[in-house]
Amino acid sequence: MGQGENAKVDLTSMNIEELTGYFTGIGEKAFRAKQVYQWLHQKLATDSGEMTSLPVDLRERIGRQCQLDTLKQVECQVSKQDGTRKYLFALLNKEPNAAAYFIESVLMKYKFGNSVCISSQAGCRMGCKFCASAIGGLSRSLHVSEMLGQVYHISRDIGERISHVVVMGTGEPLDNYENLIKFIEMISDEKGLNISQRNITVSTCGIVPNIYRLAEKKFQITLALSLHAASQETRLSLMPVAQKYKLPDVMKACDAYFAKTGRRITYEYSLVHGQNDTKEDAAKLGALLKGKNCHLNLIPVNPVRERSYKQPGASDMAAFKKELEKNGINVTIRRELGRDIDGACGQLRKRYSKAISAARGLD
Ligand code: SAH
Repeated sequence: MGQGENAKVDLTSMNIEELTGYFTGIGEKAFRAKQVYQWLHQKLATDSGEMTSLPVDLRERIGRQCQLDTLKQVECQVSKQDGTRKYLFALLNKEPNAAAYFIESVLMKYKFGNSVCISSQAGCRMGCKFCASAIGGLSRSLHVSEMLGQVYHISRDIGERISHVVVMGTGEPLDNYENLIKFIEMISDEKGLNISQRNITVSTCGIVPNIYRLAEKKFQITLALSLHAASQETRLSLMPVAQKYKLPDVMKACDAYFAKTGRRITYEYSLVHGQNDTKEDAAKLGALLKGKNCHLNLIPVNPVRERSYKQPGASDMAAFKKELEKNGINVTIRRELGRDIDGACGQLRKRYSKAISAARGLD
């Protein structure tokens, strides 16, 4: 896709303008773009043979020149606790002789609908200490088609509509900014799956300049900020990104985001026993968020094999929450789905590509 002599064209990453340019460029009528867009983004076709409103020779041409399917499902684990499904996908766009890359996505079933948590990168370079996705670093950012593909694939697999998307899987979405923007535009496009922007959440560790850029787009999405500490010092001990983007600057960017979009920020705070869970921590957090129109999500830290971080006890968590409520802050303790399949926050990881590829015959 886009690289190498025989690279196939990545049609699914194209918006309607780009698709129109592509079809007129190969001597086809402009309206073919609309038809193909509908096949790809509404009917979720992954093979040009399905596109029965196109002449057969055009279907064949698309089949030869373009890559429509970008992911191959390798595994799907279903939680016995709550029916959460965790998918492991291989990225089909692979450089010759390179190891295959894998990503994970999670489907959560709620009373209000089906929510898919997607990855924005294969691996991650942010290095948060408590997060499994950081182990092994970044392989590469995902193409728009690979982000859309996670939602499309899961919708086809369960035969149901997806109503909510959270960009909270592996990777830092604001480290893949251009593709994230296009993803939001296309997944919420009424000519595509038409998922309401109000049902889309993007979670960031706080890449300050891109928070400002995102604010300018005035999307109706929810921005979630991974805070995890109320002081620069503690935050830095957990999140290396805080070296570059300091806490006061992150908070300023979030205030500006709210002012520009009118969408209140969700602050995420993973409670890590002995690191950020004392009464003083709660008081500091209360002071930091007091008076802001925001939502605070407390996430008991999820276990990661290579790390020894532990959750606070239930009564400590309740006390932490109470301290914040005293400051009038709107706070919830997040119910974690999919813990038994390592599908909860911070448990998605880069798998050992060589071993999986060999076992599955993907190389
Ligand atoms: N890079 C983005 C999105 C991915 S992480 C971000 O940092 O926001 C999604 C959320 O899970 C973040 O708030 C992250 O800090 C949190 N998280 C990571 N590891 C965790 C763990 N072990 N337990 C609980 N939450 C964790």
